[in-house]
Amino acid sequence: MALTLPGGQTVRVRLHARQEVTGPHPWRYLVGVPSWVARPEGVEAAEYTVWVTDRQLTPVEGVDLSGVPTRRLPGPPPQPAPGWVVRPVPGHRGRTVVHDAACRHAAGGGTELGTQEAVDALMRDGARACTDCDAAAVLVPALELGQGHG
Ligand SMILES: [Zn+2]
Repeated sequence: MALTLPGGQTVRVRLHARQEVTGPHPWRYLVGVPSWVARPEGVEAAEYTVWVTDRQLTPVEGVDLSGVPTRRLPGPPPQPAPGWVVRPVPGHRGRTVVHDAACRHAAGGGTELGTQEAVDALMRDGARACTDCDAAAVLVPALELGQGHG
């Protein structure tokens, strides 16, 4: 990489790492700037490491950066699973059963729903909540709450 110094000069630097950050410049680069350091025994080459943005850097042709350690921001959290599945009852037209998505009766098809949709589905004629899983225990009280008892 070539680093542009504040005065406009450019120097070849070593890219040590890159890190994704929030803000207008999504990447920070840890570069090693060559310099000198005076020691009791004399002067020797040294490297100063600093974080810069892509504004200060120019890629150098032929330099492979794929091995540079790269730290990305964590992605958006995965969407929670819908949680509920409504399945038609075989042989009973219009009858449905709502299951917890993890219920063994929910395997093999059906429509995945969020909790509010599952409560709505239970309010339809011919719908009931499965009693083998959490559907009855969780959704029926929610349904009763939604109907505003009292
Ligand atoms: Zn079930």
